[in-house]
Amino acid sequence: MNYFVLSAANPAAIHLLSEIQSKSSPPTLQSGEETIGYRISIPSHSSHQDEVCFKWRIGAGPSPAIAKMGDIFVPEILLCPQDASQTPSSKAVRAYIKHIYAVIFLHPQSGALVLRSRSTKPIIYEQGDMNDQDVEICGGPDSKAKSCVLRRRKNYLQFGPYRFLLEYTVSHQDRGRFSKTIDRSLHHRHHKLFSFIPSTDPETLWNVWLHRKIPNSSSLQSGVHIYTGQPVAVKTLHNKIRGRRYMIDQIKLASRYRDKPDNGILGIIDVWCEHWISPPCVLKPSSAVTHCRNTYFSMPLAEQNFLHKRWRKLDTNTHLKYLYHTLCGLAELHGRGIVHGNIQPQALLVCEQRAFISLSMQRSETYDASIWVAPEVWLDKYRELDETKLDIWGLAISWLFTCLRPPPDLAVSRHSYKHLQTTLKSRKDKGRIPEPLYDLLQEMLAWDPCNRPSAIEALNHKAWLPVLPRIARRAKGSRTRKALQAVQ
Ligand SMILES: [Zn+2]
Repeated sequence: MNYFVLSAANPAAIHLLSEIQSKSSPPTLQSGEETIGYRISIPSHSSHQDEVCFKWRIGAGPSPAIAKMGDIFVPEILLCPQDASQTPSSKAVRAYIKHIYAVIFLHPQSGALVLRSRSTKPIIYEQGDMNDQDVEICGGPDSKAKSCVLRRRKNYLQFGPYRFLLEYTVSHQDRGRFSKTIDRSLHHRHHKLFSFIPSTDPETLWNVWLHRKIPNSSSLQSGVHIYTGQPVAVKTLHNKIRGRRYMIDQIKLASRYRDKPDNGILGIIDVWCEHWISPPCVLKPSSAVTHCRNTYFSMPLAEQNFLHKRWRKLDTNTHLKYLYHTLCGLAELHGRGIVHGNIQPQALLVCEQRAFISLSMQRSETYDASIWVAPEVWLDKYRELDETKLDIWGLAISWLFTCLRPPPDLAVSRHSYKHLQTTLKSRKDKGRIPEPLYDLLQEMLAWDPCNRPSAIEALNHKAWLPVLPRIARRAKGSRTRKALQAVQ
């Protein structure tokens, strides 16, 4: 199946490729009357996936001196004639392009085609940055962009004086087969949210190339980071005067967890606003806000949440480990004196083999009738609620959605509570819920909030023993180790 062509787009490049064709004639270098370029194809999905590596190196190949030293690796996309000794023309090429100059690869999570520099000499990707301006892709330590996603149908690239066009050439009838092949090479199963071939007019929002709207969400879109190819979700927040302080605090809080997955809270990657600035207007003095309607943020794209139905495929310990991660997240929040306030299965996400609590950016003033709202909310309107205990209830109920299906839109009553307990017990008796976890669930779902454990107490429960040793060995922080010692 044809994938893309990297063809000459100026006289210098035409001349270069013609010379390579006459001297070295690599099989993928093909010319017609109008064009000369490397035609890159991928095997169709019937072939064996393990043997396929979606990576193509670009470079001048070994110079005669390097070749003598034994390194004779010739890149898949060769940009210099291979001679036994240097020639004026090969010297001219090597002034810009080294042995391996850049690599084009399929991002293993998003399936986006990424160009990464392996050189300190910049590659210009025309209209490649987030403002549709030219971007310099450069491997040097101080460079801003070391890689870039090739997100247009036609991508113009300058390697020194040589200009090339990288154009996607997947035929219309091959599209379905092509997507299936790419799908199966990806590490994750959220591929349905990506388009592997750019549309004629790709839409970007800040540094995200937008792909699809995420099903069952009002304001979430999937996309890829235009410099790294990482899959992300973008959320739109409407700036309102009411609840502004809350939103600002939550954004600041979530930004802290950007590179700290161990804490169990899903971090924000970038936050910006409709004025294309970061930090956004809402984080500035209040006068600016009235003129700014929307704030956007990006976060890692989750593979699934606790409402999805893929949990049966997980082994018991992985399942338990994910529950544990979310409890760590809640303990982290409560440790900072913060309550989540809206824990439900959709707010618990799995991403890169870890589970996270995602924070709500906008706080709802009222409670909807749902099973993840603890019973005391409906019982006594005048009693002061312990919100940490509401979180504990919400978390335990959300865990249940991974092994049974309670009716979500139900305010918990004495009657439904009893029913829930009977169902839980029968699941335990059938071996679907391990006994220690069942005990912990019972405690976290105590009718009286005073009888529910705190997040830290729940972390110290014996239910986690099967997964703790592995977690503790890997965890750098001391909290889990302490928890382990406490249990032992
Ligand atoms: Zn703004």
